[in-house]
Amino acid sequence: MARVLVGLLWHEGNSFNPLETLEADFSLSEGETLLRDYRGSETALGGILRGLERQGFDPLPATAARARPGGPVERAFIERYVDSLVECVRRERPDAICLDLHGATTATGLPDVEGHLLTRLRQEAGPDTPIAVAADLHGYITPAMTAAADIITGYRTNPHADMGDTGERAVRLLARLLDGERPKLTSLRVPMLAPGNDWTSKGPLADICARAGAMRADPRIADLSVFNTQPQLDVADTGQTVLVYSQDENLAAHCARELGAMLWRHRTEFTTVLADLDTTLAGKKPGLLALGDFGDRVLGGAPGDSLYVAETTRRDFPHLRTLSFVHDPRAVDTAVQVGLGNTAEFAIGAAVSSHAFPAIRPVAAHWTAKALGRAQYVNRGPYMAGMKSDFGEHAVLTDGNMTVVATTRAPNAHDPAALGLALLDLDEIDVVVLKSGMHFHLSFSAICPCVSVATPGFATDRLDTLPYDSARPVYPLDDIEWSSEAP
Ligand SMILES: [Zn+2]
Repeated sequence: MARVLVGLLWHEGNSFNPLETLEADFSLSEGETLLRDYRGSETALGGILRGLERQGFDPLPATAARARPGGPVERAFIERYVDSLVECVRRERPDAICLDLHGATTATGLPDVEGHLLTRLRQEAGPDTPIAVAADLHGYITPAMTAAADIITGYRTNPHADMGDTGERAVRLLARLLDGERPKLTSLRVPMLAPGNDWTSKGPLADICARAGAMRADPRIADLSVFNTQPQLDVADTGQTVLVYSQDENLAAHCARELGAMLWRHRTEFTTVLADLDTTLAGKKPGLLALGDFGDRVLGGAPGDSLYVAETTRRDFPHLRTLSFVHDPRAVDTAVQVGLGNTAEFAIGAAVSSHAFPAIRPVAAHWTAKALGRAQYVNRGPYMAGMKSDFGEHAVLTDGNMTVVATTRAPNAHDPAALGLALLDLDEIDVVVLKSGMHFHLSFSAICPCVSVATPGFATDRLDTLPYDSARPVYPLDDIEWSSEAP
């Protein structure tokens, strides 16, 4: 029975969010706790554990470290995490390693965290221990990562409906590696960013994903992934990455070049077609509407401190009752001092975002503290079903038609279970504002219409409003020439 070391590092970096992601922002699970937390969850690690069981392999649980997306992670924590995994390999001498990695984790002074982690693991494990990785479709896949791992396979869908499947596939590929198969990698980087219009079921990616699917049906292709790298990442050599694993290098090169050419040909279509907020609110039908606050979505690494949608609604559509989630530890403190059921005048939100985006302002009102407590719940899914969300302490504050759930951790709110924090019935809300651009569609579409709206913030689709440096030159920031046929 093969003994397979398993672990997870999940954090999507946003280079422009000035708030460092701290160790305290991570949920950590080790050993048996990892198995308990992730078995049955709709995550790649959940899929890896399912796959190992199917193959009859024995999981050796290392550490799972999961944080919401955000600013770069504190370097010392990443180094401790990497050391702990390396130590686990040294102690256990596993037959293979299978990891759930986001792929676009950044740390302070270390843009390629996964490349660093995989390189250290390869050094410790030696050249013959297979290493397989299940990665997010938004991964920043670097030469250091592909050199150190035998297989990196990515989600096929955005929003991500196949995280568990990806984990299971990573294990199937790992089983083939354990049987001695060593497919060669052909990779191709396309120097362009896809800022938001990157649904895999519609828009420019639909044809590309269908073509990639047809290529995978060829048994000579061991695996093929297209990575639409997280665009709000200011790192060298970013872009779209195609990975093809096959013994047939000519075929792999042909596939990579064809997909690269398709991506480049469609490059103008990736600039988003997000809905306009005013138009959306003006045309709102009766019943609940879920809005994705695209610019300040925590799922794109923004701070989650904007009440831009709530403020706009209060000003221009005052008859609509909004429920918003906002990162504001000071507002939580103030609410505790004011006391449950009491009212005071103060401002909420915008502590970080207002410095870069003047349209995001603190919202002053006569706030009544309606509830205080711990913002925890289990996601119903299907996105991230079974995973616990924890936004720290929270205060539910109301004034007129505005209800705000202020939290001490960035509120990665994308699941209907989050509504329970506000102690409101669905018919008491007209608009719920979520800190998600796409994934909330998976989990809310059974309940109500979902619309992603263009808003300011560190996760904006308007890439020209962000101060890129290391990523350049890259399309659409720069008008560059490129061909998939170039060597
Ligand atoms: Zn993603």
